Amino acid sequence: VSSSTAAPDSEPARIFLNVDLGERSYPITIGAGLLSDPALLERHIAGHKVAIVTNTTVAPLYLERVAAPLRAAGRDVLEIVLPDGEQFKNWDSLMTIFDALLEHKCDRKTTMVALGGGVIGDLTGYAAASYMRGVPFVQMPTTLLAQVDSSVGGKTGINHPLGKNMIGAFYQPRAVLADTASLGTLAPRELSAGLAEVIKHGAIIDAAFFDWIEANIGKLMARDPAALAHAISRSCEIKAEVVRQDEREGGLRAILNFGHTFGHAIEAGMGYGAWLHGEAVGCGMVMAADLSHRLGLVDAATVARMRALVGAAGLPTVAPDLGTERWLELMEVDKKNEGGAIKFILMKPLGSPNITSAPREQLLATLAACVG
Ligand code: NAD
Ligand code: MG
Repeated sequence: VSSSTAAPDSEPARIFLNVDLGERSYPITIGAGLLSDPALLERHIAGHKVAIVTNTTVAPLYLERVAAPLRAAGRDVLEIVLPDGEQFKNWDSLMTIFDALLEHKCDRKTTMVALGGGVIGDLTGYAAASYMRGVPFVQMPTTLLAQVDSSVGGKTGINHPLGKNMIGAFYQPRAVLADTASLGTLAPRELSAGLAEVIKHGAIIDAAFFDWIEANIGKLMARDPAALAHAISRSCEIKAEVVRQDEREGGLRAILNFGHTFGHAIEAGMGYGAWLHGEAVGCGMVMAADLSHRLGLVDAATVARMRALVGAAGLPTVAPDLGTERWLELMEVDKKNEGGAIKFILMKPLGSPNITSAPREQLLATLAACVG
């Protein structure tokens, strides 16, 4: 991962990163107002046709400012506006996209643009991976979660009625353009959910970044542009470096699931949608910190810091009471477990990952301590 910051007099500061994946390498640009900079997007569009996929919430806010300049420049722009929601990250939406592309006679040089949160990004990426066996696509993430997590790394896909994200492909975008100004319209709960993944990156990779998040959580919650830009860029750097080392999740990439074993159990146990993913991960990180301490991997102060930071990010810190047996059952079905004992991603110490199984006694103690 290489990075640089440029701040010409006429423009606000922008941060440029590069995801190093050989011939699949791509740039990430982060800054305020990128959605209103057509030249930036134009650079990554090779053919005449552009298909912008977005949803009914994002379209009225941002679609025109992306589409209009492309049209004015003579491009043939197709707008595909899907209904909003995780329940639409499915086969029907994928077919809606393919129908529109085929009716519009989109060829293999068509560039697809994902304008929205992680749902739009995952769906559009998978459509781009499979339409005519692969067309170029650009990620324009508009949620904090998508800017710090889902738009980077090339995991694309849809949900199946029998499981989340069960159908998909690894397919890297040509570029990621993260406009921090678009976060101004995000619901507070969605902002907090994105912060969970930011905190995660500090907890498993970079203790100094965790310190920085602690010191700046007030600014982040207030959507201070400079603070958000730093949180996004450091998160992208960390995720890009993990992905560079393990693009297809052969091993290392699993550390990005810190807090997720507990979190997935909460999401499933409460019924998908009741807790946002980031809320469940926030609480899951408190539980993972608690378990890390019980196994002697971190001190008690680290657990207290994690609980305080997750709370300050507007995320829940007390786990729901699903019943002990149900809790264990839900953690065992987590798809990241390949037979045998549950493998937890823990910290040893703060800022470093440690993958381990946990004795039943300590696990039960963590559940007892964290469930409200
Ligand atoms: P989302 O895409 O559902 O967006 C959350 C809500 O915010 C939606 O209602 C959306 O319409 C709205 N929204 C988006 N941008 C907005 C803006 N600028 N202003 C106002 N509202 C806006 O949810 P998400 O949290 O962005 O993404 C979650 C999805 O990402 C899940 O499907 C998850 O599986 C996936 N994901 C993928 C990866 C990956 O590596 N590919 C990683 C993490 C999560
Ligand atoms: Mg996650």
